[in-house]
Amino acid sequence: MTHYVIDPPAITAVPVAGGGMFPVRRVFCVGRNYAEHTREMGGDPDREEPFFFTKPADALLINGADMPYPPKTADLHHEMELVVAIGTGGKDIAEADALAHVYGYAAGLDMTRRDLQAAAKKGGKPWDMGKGFDCSGPVGEIAPASQIGHPAAGKIELVVNGVPRQNSDLAKQIWNVPETISYLSGLVELAPGDLIFTGTPEGVAAVVSGDVLEGEIAGVGTVRTRII
Ligand code: MN
Repeated sequence: MTHYVIDPPAITAVPVAGGGMFPVRRVFCVGRNYAEHTREMGGDPDREEPFFFTKPADALLINGADMPYPPKTADLHHEMELVVAIGTGGKDIAEADALAHVYGYAAGLDMTRRDLQAAAKKGGKPWDMGKGFDCSGPVGEIAPASQIGHPAAGKIELVVNGVPRQNSDLAKQIWNVPETISYLSGLVELAPGDLIFTGTPEGVAAVVSGDVLEGEIAGVGTVRTRII
């Protein structure tokens, strides 16, 4: 038996609708995957290859837990996203085979310290501290693909304090789920437990302490958190 010199970290796990827990290995996120969001961030949706960043697995926030307003920012933004849970790994996965690697789907929020991200972009520096901070990934229950199938279209929306903020359709993704899995698996070998946040539609904006964020993806599920 391995003698760990400190207690090993707990495994982050996301509840599965209907029972059980999905253990998380890594959290990948797609940047700029809806044309209108790409434009609102100053990019050109017709000219960019997909790109990825990561969050630590233990940055996930589950079971609707409150999200402490993070330090070192005055511009905390919401990004409502479809999350893909990888059930079987692989590298150089063909688009035609990609959906067979998916365990299920969830609704998630890629919370972003936009001011830190903007400063990093301007300085040619990493995004990590703008994206991968503590509690930056609220995620709802994972719905198994065996029950809901593989949603390629359907409403994705976020309301804050009951007021609509983001409202789009999964069909507007620039890189759909099979394309995203295929591309990412060419960069890294995907493994069971990996999550992929697949990018946000337009309408990202700031939240403040006290705000209640409620997101829903039709046929997939919901995500909720309150900023404290
Ligand atoms: Mn995002």
